[in-house]
Amino acid sequence: MNIKPIHSPSSCIFVLVAAIMLLGSPGFAVDKGARVKLVLQITIDQLRGDQPLLFKERFGEGGFKLLFDKGAYYANAHYSHADTETAPGHATLATGTVPARHGITNSEWYDYEKGRVVYSVEDQSSPLVDQNAVSTAGSTSSEKGRSPAHLLSTTIGDEIVISSFGKARSIAVSGKDRGAILPGGHCGKAFWLSNGKFVNSKYYNDSLPGWVEEWNRNKLADTYRNKAWTLLRDKGSYLRKDIDDRSFEGSYKHLGRTFPKSFACKDDEEFYETLLHTPVNDELVLSFAEHAIDKLALGQGESTDYLSVSFSSTDYVGHGWGIGSLEAEDNLLRVDRNLAALFSFVDKKVGLDKVLIVLSADHGVAEIAEAMQAFSIDSYRIPSKEFCASVNSRLKERFSTEHDLIKAFVYPYIYLDRKFIADGGIGAGIEVVQDAAAEIAMQYPGVAYAAGRSRIARGELPANTGYYARIVANFHPRRSGDVHVVPRQYVMFGKKRTNQPGEHGSVWSYDTYVPVAFLSAGVRPGYYLRSIDPQDIAPTIAALLGIKPPSASSGEVLKEIAD
Ligand SMILES: [Zn+2]
Repeated sequence: MNIKPIHSPSSCIFVLVAAIMLLGSPGFAVDKGARVKLVLQITIDQLRGDQPLLFKERFGEGGFKLLFDKGAYYANAHYSHADTETAPGHATLATGTVPARHGITNSEWYDYEKGRVVYSVEDQSSPLVDQNAVSTAGSTSSEKGRSPAHLLSTTIGDEIVISSFGKARSIAVSGKDRGAILPGGHCGKAFWLSNGKFVNSKYYNDSLPGWVEEWNRNKLADTYRNKAWTLLRDKGSYLRKDIDDRSFEGSYKHLGRTFPKSFACKDDEEFYETLLHTPVNDELVLSFAEHAIDKLALGQGESTDYLSVSFSSTDYVGHGWGIGSLEAEDNLLRVDRNLAALFSFVDKKVGLDKVLIVLSADHGVAEIAEAMQAFSIDSYRIPSKEFCASVNSRLKERFSTEHDLIKAFVYPYIYLDRKFIADGGIGAGIEVVQDAAAEIAMQYPGVAYAAGRSRIARGELPANTGYYARIVANFHPRRSGDVHVVPRQYVMFGKKRTNQPGEHGSVWSYDTYVPVAFLSAGVRPGYYLRSIDPQDIAPTIAALLGIKPPSASSGEVLKEIAD
């Protein structure tokens, strides 16, 4: 028998030929990565996973339909953290991991050193470039400076820039500051809306770049002054045509419960704030995103650029009128048209075959409590202040003290007065007080479960499944409180009566459920029903590009879509 030595010249030539064939074949990952010139990561704030499926047949061409027909579409994606809010969701999408690792545990948390509640994207050392700019809603903190300082992981945008030795550009835009700052990461540039203009802070630049000033000078927001939000299509064609005036819907200022909704306002501040609560918010973000692609020639240079576009209208509309409203239906049809416009713009400027589009949402949402009551679901709001006062007074009674033992309740955490307890103020250790507070909280109507921080840290929750796992995924030792409170399904913390009755932020499936879609020449199209987690997105983008994942990434690569 003639056995060839492995390193014979002819086998070396074979290996070389095979390597050349492999590199040249469209199935080779690095080759595919080299072809992507722009990663376009789209986030629709508060888009629950069932909504694109519900309206699938009603969408036009080129928007969601393009993702359904040509993309890899995941219809069973759920977040695995407990506090399903905008800041943790955006951070997870950007970093590929859970709040326990990226550090954005909730929108705001209590800071014991500062002795106050801090906002997840506040930063005293990074004032806004425009002193007159207002920071977008979502923060009770008076600190106006903004940066990603609290984000404890690199983002996929950061990794794209780092892997190109700084040649790639990373840009993030949103109607909300946190919707831009967290995806923008540490070395991207984030821009968000303030009084109808896009702003950022000195973390990014001393003054706004010329191309941003140019967009602001066009005063697009002001062209809406004498306009109104009217239905996009004939009212008779809407699923919810007969339910435009539900008594429990909220309304931002004068916008009211029915169509049309005039944008006219008594003063400028109220006018610009009103626009945020309508589909105009997304229209401004879309225009600015297109302007950025055009002026910076994103995706048209040598490197792979990154653009994050976070659309916030869906969140404002869901909070105000409810996910089951005619307003929400019209808004989603408009989101679809905005997506079609953006995809078409990117196709013209870069070529869709050179773009990796990724779409998801930061969280889902519950139906308004009163809407669920009609289906015999025991749904209501727990007033946060009353809950906190009640737990505090029962704790004081239990430990026979006049001293307030709760420093703050920042959903989902109760923060105890750790110093007073550590100094022997009540003669009981912190863990004893945590357990007592959890036990008392669990007796409050509407609370499903509460766990003390020491037990969470030691891994002592009943089982590492269901919402117990979500509590652990949300836990960060420096930012999480002393007791994690889980409300029952369809029970929300908040004010009893509010002009924003729609709510999210729970461990339950309506809040964790989001769509996930990829579209790229190198992505295998398909409709996937297996369970995935949005933390899988960032490591999957990294794998498709052939670069390393973000530093704290813990998601899994969605292997089946790498064609
Ligand atoms: Zn929201």
